[in-house]
Amino acid sequence: MTAASTPTFTTHLECSLTGEIYPADTIQGLSAAGKPLLVRYDLESLAQAVSQADLARRTEGLWRYREFLPVRRPENRISLGEVMTPLIDLPHVAGKSERLIVKDEGRLPTGSFKARGLALAVSMAKELGLDHLAMPTNGNAGAAMAAYARRAGLRCTVLCPDDTPEINVNEIQFHGGDVWRVNGLINDCGALVGAGKEQVGWFDCSTLKEPYRIEGKKTMGLELAEQMNWRLPDVIFYPTGGGTGLIGMWKAFAELRAIGWLPDDVKLPRMVAVQSTGCAPIVRAWEKGKEFAPLWEDAHTVAAGIRVPVAVGDFLIIRAINESGGFAIAVDDEAILAAGVEVAHTEGLMLCPEGAATYAAWKQALADRRIGADDTAVLFNCATGIKYPMPTATQSLDRHREIEWEKFR
Ligand SMILES: *Cc1c(COP(=O)(O)O)cnc(C)c1O
Repeated sequence: MTAASTPTFTTHLECSLTGEIYPADTIQGLSAAGKPLLVRYDLESLAQAVSQADLARRTEGLWRYREFLPVRRPENRISLGEVMTPLIDLPHVAGKSERLIVKDEGRLPTGSFKARGLALAVSMAKELGLDHLAMPTNGNAGAAMAAYARRAGLRCTVLCPDDTPEINVNEIQFHGGDVWRVNGLINDCGALVGAGKEQVGWFDCSTLKEPYRIEGKKTMGLELAEQMNWRLPDVIFYPTGGGTGLIGMWKAFAELRAIGWLPDDVKLPRMVAVQSTGCAPIVRAWEKGKEFAPLWEDAHTVAAGIRVPVAVGDFLIIRAINESGGFAIAVDDEAILAAGVEVAHTEGLMLCPEGAATYAAWKQALADRRIGADDTAVLFNCATGIKYPMPTATQSLDRHREIEWEKFR
């Protein structure tokens, strides 16, 4: 350890399927079994190095959890001013339900929670001496990677489906990313990124194909626990694409449990994976009692962030659902769009379509009695709604004509 480094507690990486061990501080992608690698820590030493009171004195943002993260040298902690995202009650639409809360991740840099994962992936890429990152994206991940990569002085190449919303593609380019539209879906883009590793020498930052995005997304769980004063909601609704956040939060809760910050009398939340009926591989597999989810053909949904036909971490998502006593649920696009409008009109809070899907799923689960009115629920709004197409506003006034004041009454 050099003078400039602060203690971090990473001991090794571990294959999430086989348990095979890999050394920390080396460049790694998937395990030999083709599965995600998980970062493991010396939790005992970690717990001695930091207390809940220490945390409370630190500035906002994910780096306040640095002992729980793998970056060793402070100068490699790339930051764009991450905030602690607010918990916003939805008292009107909650009705008689105990408490319905949105964790609004749209307030993070680049307007989505992809900032958390990519802050860690890019910081570790810098620490390990990588210089050119690449990824497939449905939009938000590419924007976050481009922003953090440029901040770190690294090159980045992004491949996205050709129907990715204009604003996302432009945003990636604006951040200095080399962005290309591909005539296919995200998994097709992923295959090209995989092939380019050898051809170009870039590093594959795809969801779960490097070990550190999970650690960034894990901070959602750490942050939620801290914000709720080291208690947790009864149920979490998470819009699930690759599932990084759901897997990461479940890992966070396990680590907090292990160090005693979530004592045994604190119940862990039921984890609910929300997908769209147009692309629901996890829901289909979970309903069949399977751990692995085959590719979903002809995936389509307005919620682009969860249009992920095949997820390399499928079994990790399904294990977290099952271990937590949760479930997987699909809602259709019509319900997603209506949910977004309802929350905006009733609560003044704009959700992205993926966030709106969690509200639609909460309503459906309440109606189906999969959850009860006495459950406190947290919905993840993963991006700012401003980045998405909205219904067009069409009304105008001609100030040179007589105004029909009736219209306003
Ligand atoms: C990426 C993304 C998701 C899915 O997140 P995962 O953790 O990869 O499952 C959901 N919504 C939005 C807006 C996203 O950008």
